[in-house]
Amino acid sequence: MDNSVKLSLAHMGGREQYWIDQAFKTGWIVPLGPNVDEFERLLGDYLGAPGRVVALSAGTAALHLGLVMLGVEPGDEVICQSFTFSASANPVKYMGATPVFVGSEKDTWNMDPAVLDECIADRVAQTGRKPKAIIPVHLYGMPAKMKEILAVADKWEIPVLEDAAEALGSELDGHKCGTFGRFAALSFNGNKIITTSGGGALVCPDAESATRVKFYATQARENRPYYYHEVIGYNYRLSNVCAGIGVGQMEVLDEHVARRREIHGLYKQLLSEAQWIKVMDNPSLNFASNFWLSTITIDSKTGRTPDELRLFLAEKEIESRLLWRPMHMQPVFADAPYYGAGGVEEQLFDTGLCLPSGSGLSDAQIERVARTIIDFGGKQ
Ligand SMILES: *Cc1c(COP(=O)(O)O)cnc(C)c1O
Repeated sequence: MDNSVKLSLAHMGGREQYWIDQAFKTGWIVPLGPNVDEFERLLGDYLGAPGRVVALSAGTAALHLGLVMLGVEPGDEVICQSFTFSASANPVKYMGATPVFVGSEKDTWNMDPAVLDECIADRVAQTGRKPKAIIPVHLYGMPAKMKEILAVADKWEIPVLEDAAEALGSELDGHKCGTFGRFAALSFNGNKIITTSGGGALVCPDAESATRVKFYATQARENRPYYYHEVIGYNYRLSNVCAGIGVGQMEVLDEHVARRREIHGLYKQLLSEAQWIKVMDNPSLNFASNFWLSTITIDSKTGRTPDELRLFLAEKEIESRLLWRPMHMQPVFADAPYYGAGGVEEQLFDTGLCLPSGSGLSDAQIERVARTIIDFGGKQ
């Protein structure tokens, strides 16, 4: 028997194959069709954004088209959270723009609103121009402090492109992540809350911009009998076959989110006796993370590193993962300006670990992970 515990595997609900078969039966083996329409409708209903969700081939594509829609041009600056996966920042470079990285605050591990404000003031002072967009991220599903971030964004009149790739089902003040920014990107990669095997979506402010996003995503073909192009297009639509998986997954989205939260609760309970570990949690009742990944930090006084724990777990066939290495610490972004908030994300990178969190994991598996962690470091 396979005894291994993985970080976050795709978890099927059971009806995905039916919708894939529908695509085959009806001949819609193309990047549009009834499954794509239905998946967009379900996402729109779920987010309270009917007619404003466009299914795309990846979350990265969604972020890219978000920047296209916001009119980012070569030479522009775009502010991005430093503590994130590289896919948040790469699309800035696709546009020929420069990412400007902002550090995190301790409560949510996401963009620090006060530092964001200082950063914008300084960019304006230095370059005489405002950054074109702001990309906050809801890391590991934890909502960023959007109220404060939006207040800063509104003050400077800079649009927000929300990276909600990890946060489908998370809520802040009772509002779903993916509904705060002018645009918001979702991901349905294999390891996310729900998957289309690979895919994403862009949530748009109105039906008109959704239509425009679809236009860009299908090679920007103008409405003429021959192929005619006024702007550069992209091939970013989601396949109707993959969208079938998404339609099936929407039936179990709520269950998946509930299970991830349950797993987080189990970790909290099982690891509570280990004083040297802190399980990351909602900072207050206003925050409701989907706990896409449950994460811990190790007290640095123990002298143990998260990579030692990762290797110890790996020996027992338990997959874990170090936290994202901040973007301002990546060689590829070495030249990008960075505005720190006291090194919060650098310290998190040094002390943190993501634990197996897939919604398909059993209580027994989570208990084995927790036991193994306690074997590594004791209770103290
Ligand atoms: C997964 C992810 C993305 C990219 O999504 P893909 O569908 O893999 O392209 C972007 N940002 C964050 C924070 C992610 O975790």
